[in-house]
Amino acid sequence: MAEKELKKIFDSESACTLVSELRKTFNTGKTKSYEWRVSQLKNLQKLIEEHEKEIIEALQTDLAKPEAEIHVGEIGMLKSSLKTALNELRNWMMPEKVKTSMTTFPSSAEILPEPLGVTLVISAWNYPILLSIDPMIGAIAAGNAVVLKPSEVAPASSSFLAKYLGEYMDSSAIRVVEGAIPETTALLEQKWDKIFYTGNGRIGRIVMGAAAKHLTPVALELGGKCPVIVDSVINLQVATRRIIGGKWAFNNGQACVSADYIITTKEFAPKLIDSLKHEIETCFGTNPIESKDISRIINSNHFDRLSKLLDDEKVSGKIVCGGQRDKSCLRIAPTILLDVPEDSLIMNEEIFGPLLPILTVDKIEDSFDIVTSKEKPLAAYLFTNKNKLKDEFVRTISAGGTVINDISLHLAVHTLPFGGVGESGTGSYHGKFSFDAFSHKKAVLYRSFTGDASVRYPPYSNGKVRMLKALINGSILGIILALFKLSKD
Ligand code: NAD
Repeated sequence: MAEKELKKIFDSESACTLVSELRKTFNTGKTKSYEWRVSQLKNLQKLIEEHEKEIIEALQTDLAKPEAEIHVGEIGMLKSSLKTALNELRNWMMPEKVKTSMTTFPSSAEILPEPLGVTLVISAWNYPILLSIDPMIGAIAAGNAVVLKPSEVAPASSSFLAKYLGEYMDSSAIRVVEGAIPETTALLEQKWDKIFYTGNGRIGRIVMGAAAKHLTPVALELGGKCPVIVDSVINLQVATRRIIGGKWAFNNGQACVSADYIITTKEFAPKLIDSLKHEIETCFGTNPIESKDISRIINSNHFDRLSKLLDDEKVSGKIVCGGQRDKSCLRIAPTILLDVPEDSLIMNEEIFGPLLPILTVDKIEDSFDIVTSKEKPLAAYLFTNKNKLKDEFVRTISAGGTVINDISLHLAVHTLPFGGVGESGTGSYHGKFSFDAFSHKKAVLYRSFTGDASVRYPPYSNGKVRMLKALINGSILGIILALFKLSKD
């Protein structure tokens, strides 16, 4: 019998058994203890430290990611998330004391973060290690059991996660299920206490639909078209290098916060394009398609998708830089297109690859209308030295996050929430926001048996109503007057 047939199929029944096993563990209270959470976070640290080489191998197999990018964008980000979680966990778990009102006097109150229960993390292929483990850090820190479903589109990374998370983590509460649509569908049929999904909006809708059946809360980390507005009052070389860093030196544009399109003025566009061409050559050489410092396209489906965007007759004559591609090695050179029509394919879907269209406007302020006419992006960027333009941009453009004078860097600041809005997603994570994403904030009110006022109990009199009104209004004078009148009633 073939090996595949011997392997038990992961179906609804297996998913149901898995969830009930994890729920049994969760119900013992094991995952709630500070010690368990710390031990699992430390296991993750150990796994990453001891298997850095295998992580690099997996990511190079899946995406030919340059090692430097792996150290910064996957391993480095995870180490930093783990360090923050381990340093801050005690504080995060502490109940937050809050004020009470006169209505409940005497009393004290607090907000107690409690784990949601058994949670599901579904991750995407472009940062396959980071996007799997980073949400898990939040789930574990918050005291949940968690099942990870890595992306089948990055198979080497998926196998790495299944093998090593299986070895290092407490399997009574933390599991990995590998697979594609059938396995994910079987998982989504189950009742979860939170689903954390990273990927595109089409599948996001499937996830949300499945979650709705069980009233399960979701975090949807989606994508969109992230605009980059480039004014002329800038340091051109720094801006250009940062655009290149946030586009091609960032998984070759296969990143949710990558620059999707640029808007600049007609007058400034030629200068910007010259600078981009020059710096692209500095970074990737005269034949970037052969550069070792740039990731390849994940697979032939995505290669064909990107080729279709380039072959659209509305844009095929608009290439001003790059355009070379080689399907045999899944490589597409950094490609810039000028003045593509707004109704072209490339301007109507997330590019998620090395193509960068530039739109031009008469005045830079006109760029805001273009951005706001589209769905809310995951990130929006502005390059300028003009304070008025920065203020206007931050106030006018709705996006998951915004960065002035750089690309993507907001996701490295753990005190900032990372997530989308509208079509780019719902919910956020990173730092304490990851802990909050997997916690329920429980209201706790403490009362004693003293100070029991008969005024709240029937039978009601006019005096009692006056007193209740004064209490609810929080008016000391009203209470004194009501007390005075009550004594006379
Ligand atoms: P993908 O193909 O890896 O799919 C994501 C997950 O959905 C996978 O685990 C896959 O198995 C599962 N899936 C696929 N089809 C399914 C179905 N029919 N039912 C249930 N599950 C299914 O990744 P993708 O969607 O190509 O990822 C790219 C998108 O993700 C882009 O839009 C990008 O912007 C977005 N993204 C967002 C973030 C973020 O943090 N906001 C990060 C990375 C990627």
